[in-house]
Amino acid sequence: MKFSLFVGSILTLLLLTPQTTSQPDWQRIDEETMRHFQALLRIDTSDPPGQEAPAVEYLKSVLEREGIETRTFAFDPKRPNLVARIRGNGKKRPILIMGHTDVVNVDPTKWTYPPFSATRNAGYVYGRGAVDDKDNVVAGLMVMLLLKRMQTPLDRDVIFLAESGEEGSVRFGIDFMVKQHWKEIEAEYCFAEGGNVVRTLGKVLLAQVETSEKIPYAVKLIARGPSGHGSVPLRTNAIVHLTQAVARITAFQTPMRLNETTSSFLERLATISTPEDAMRYKNLLIGKESDAIQEYFAVNNPRIHSMLRTSISPNIIKGGYRVNVIPSEAEATLDIRALPDEDFPKLLDELRRVINDPAVEVVKVERDTRPGAKPSRLDTEAFRLIEEAIKRHYDVTTLPMMSTGATDMAYLRARGVQCYGIGPLVDSEDGPKGYGAHSDQERILEEALFKFIRFHWDIVVNLAGTGH
Ligand SMILES: [Zn+2]
Repeated sequence: MKFSLFVGSILTLLLLTPQTTSQPDWQRIDEETMRHFQALLRIDTSDPPGQEAPAVEYLKSVLEREGIETRTFAFDPKRPNLVARIRGNGKKRPILIMGHTDVVNVDPTKWTYPPFSATRNAGYVYGRGAVDDKDNVVAGLMVMLLLKRMQTPLDRDVIFLAESGEEGSVRFGIDFMVKQHWKEIEAEYCFAEGGNVVRTLGKVLLAQVETSEKIPYAVKLIARGPSGHGSVPLRTNAIVHLTQAVARITAFQTPMRLNETTSSFLERLATISTPEDAMRYKNLLIGKESDAIQEYFAVNNPRIHSMLRTSISPNIIKGGYRVNVIPSEAEATLDIRALPDEDFPKLLDELRRVINDPAVEVVKVERDTRPGAKPSRLDTEAFRLIEEAIKRHYDVTTLPMMSTGATDMAYLRARGVQCYGIGPLVDSEDGPKGYGAHSDQERILEEALFKFIRFHWDIVVNLAGTGH
């Protein structure tokens, strides 16, 4: 009797212990993660055309089976967005977890394993979307399932948004959600793709958290001149004028400008770099031998060079159709990645001044762009908790990072949401070997995916759970 009373009180104690202190059964969660991940990879959501509906149906059925509220919002019925919400006590403002369900197109002939097979081999899972962005989709899904099952007491609502159209058709996805259904996703903080943990030669080196990103623009240079017979060369040849304009733009250097994210990135990178590189980063920060160092990075580390400035890359050139005809028109398209606070009209004027040729017109052309916004702050509770979780799970330094690319977070940052891009561990050798995002053999390490779920869960529970 006494004994059973004792057992009884232990049971009561166990039941009363806050659920957040207990850990999920991770081995079972890993198996479940893999099952959902493979199911999502097997749904072809290539964008264009998108057709994210089957992926949304899948997520919806998994979430609703466990009693989690979901809603879908669609600008085009084939391209819905899913929102799921687990309610907290409202003491603090919500957090938003995002993952985009669409993927970039594939050339199936280039893939060893079919791109929508989700083949597992030697510790990897292969498939379009494996690292962009079905890893974040499945992480969001698993975090929601765990919060619900463990009945984690929350100070904040946790919202999961699986959005469509990130890869070039935001009007169906984040643009639509922010403009038409803001109330559904409004949050203090958001987490999405854009960061990673970098391992090189088997050693985990650093983690990058995306706190800012550049804004993509497209600009056309259009050269015009009289056409004529190729046997009589003309100084007014459109191709001659265009190539000179492209050469001038290429020689032109936009000024280096740092913001809080990029300054902090360089400072922290210096603490974990070779003495030579550390000196370069430090000198950039104080403006010492800046031109020579920038030139060094232009050649040896183009990504760093791009992070320092608004970048311009001539990526399409068109002109002429017959060997014996001087064409009357030729054009080049520039991929411009502007710093988030760039004055774009002023930059266009600057380009016109640099080209200095009335035969060449400089025009901005339509592109799926994103709004500019201030970098997310580094002094927030969320950033601190991410940094702590990185230390705990990976034991490395966190670098806040400005992406040279673009993500859907730009829309939320423009509305004042503090957004942080996080992601799983990647081997730095994997991208160059052709296994990275958008490549012909996209893959993820299974262990990296499992660890990412633990890491993600940890951040969400610490940020949204009560008593933290
Ligand atoms: Zn992506």
